[in-house]
Amino acid sequence: MTLKHILLHPDPRLKKVCAPVEGVTPDLGKLAEDMLQTMYDAPGIGLAAPQVGVMQRLFVMDCVKGQDEAAKPMVLINPEVTWTSEDRSTYEEGCLSIPEQFAEVTRPARVRMAWTGLDNQRHEEEFDGLWATCAQHEFDHLNGKLFIDYLGPIKRQLITRRMEKFKRERARG
Ligand SMILES: [Zn+2]
Repeated sequence: MTLKHILLHPDPRLKKVCAPVEGVTPDLGKLAEDMLQTMYDAPGIGLAAPQVGVMQRLFVMDCVKGQDEAAKPMVLINPEVTWTSEDRSTYEEGCLSIPEQFAEVTRPARVRMAWTGLDNQRHEEEFDGLWATCAQHEFDHLNGKLFIDYLGPIKRQLITRRMEKFKRERARG
């Protein structure tokens, strides 16, 4: 297992639409394992392939909270949104590509997604609560969309400027 380097906003690769995964190969399985490990290590609850510089349509997530519950790592390849609820919910979102910046985002409270698993089978499931928010946030990454794109321009620019400063300081060491 290898921890991947997570790209930080602003980065042109985080603004691109990703290409469909062509097939579930051993290499793809290794990538998914590495992404899960990188996500748990960060720590985070979701990570999309473009965040580690792989411009393909897959993401991983595990929204199980607390030590008492068993982990539920999920790998969603070529996901599609097949249904969203009318009712909305608001969560304070963050992103491993935008560390230490948080903002409230309103999205459909429930979402149904279909995807290919590492078993090469098609799956479909309805997500709610934090799972619904996370799945939609990660799905957005595959279309070059970040949670800050839901904010007004002033808030978005503020966060982007903070991130530019953060990256400059980090580059300086
Ligand atoms: Zn994110």
